[in-house]
Amino acid sequence: MLAESIAAAALICLDPGHGTPPAIGRQREPIGPGSRVTKIKDGGGARGEADAVLAIARRARTLLARRGYRVAMTRTGGTFSGGNIERAQFCNRREAALMLRIHADGSTDPSRRGASTLFPARRTGWTDDVYGPSRRAARVIQRSLVGATGAHDLGLVHRSDLTGFNWADVPVVLVETGFMTNPMEGRLLRTSAYQWRVARGLATGVAAFTSP
Ligand SMILES: [Zn+2]
Repeated sequence: MLAESIAAAALICLDPGHGTPPAIGRQREPIGPGSRVTKIKDGGGARGEADAVLAIARRARTLLARRGYRVAMTRTGGTFSGGNIERAQFCNRREAALMLRIHADGSTDPSRRGASTLFPARRTGWTDDVYGPSRRAARVIQRSLVGATGAHDLGLVHRSDLTGFNWADVPVVLVETGFMTNPMEGRLLRTSAYQWRVARGLATGVAAFTSP
C-alpha cells in the first residue's frame, strides 16, 4: 500500500530560471514547435536572480516532498546546459502534474516591486491542451505567493512568446517572485527567511492546484 501511494504521488517539476553558460544561452531556438520565430535560450536574468531562484526552488522541493509530492528539478546546481525547449521537455518526459518555473524580475526603474505569475496564452497546437489548468494554477499560486510573502500583487499575465510555455505538454506557470532591482525586495529575495516564505507560498499554491 505504501509503495503504491508513493508511486501515485503527483510529480512537480521545478524549473529555477537561468544559470545557462553564456555560450549556450546565446544560441537561438524556435519559440514553439514548427515556429520560424526564434529567441535566445537565456539572456542571463537579473543580477542575483539565478542564485536566488535556485535557493527558492530547493526550499520548495523540501516543502513539497514533506507534503508527499515527488519533485524533479531542471537544475539543482548553478548551471543548466540547455535552452527552454530542454527545460520543457525535461518536465514533459516526467509527465509532471505541473511545471513551476521560478524567476525574479529586473527593471531599470528601482521603484518597481511585486510578484506576478505568468501563464501560457492559448494557441491551437501549442498550448490549447494545457491552457485551462495552467491558468487555474496561476490563479491559486499567485494568491498563495502574495499571501505568504506580503508582496505587492502584480497579478496574472498571459504570454504567447515564452519558449518554455509553448513547448510544454504539461500545465505550466512562471512565477516572478519579486524584483531583484528593487532595493528592499532585492535584499529580501537574497535572504534565507524570505526565500522560505516564497517557497511556502509556492508549495501551498501547488497543493491547492493539485487537490482542488
Ligand atoms: Zn528570469
